[in-house]
Amino acid sequence: MESPLCLVDDKHLPLYRILWVSDTPHFCGEEDCMCEGRYEVRLEADESLWANRDERDMLIAALNRWCGDVESGGLEGGEL
Ligand SMILES: [Zn+2]
Repeated sequence: MESPLCLVDDKHLPLYRILWVSDTPHFCGEEDCMCEGRYEVRLEADESLWANRDERDMLIAALNRWCGDVESGGLEGGEL
């Protein structure tokens, strides 16, 4: 089974590793925060990546397309 790869913050990320994607930009008020204004992409094993707005939009679109494919029977039994 193949999962598309998406480029986030210089890393090619398989969609199946994503748990969720933040809808709003990160803000925590810390002066030396490196992630402020970026969108959190939560991965398995307590990992996170930080996407810019374009990457976030591209990820959401890719996830929608991928989930849609799986739900419409793209997963198994395709050889008729
Ligand atoms: Zn922060």
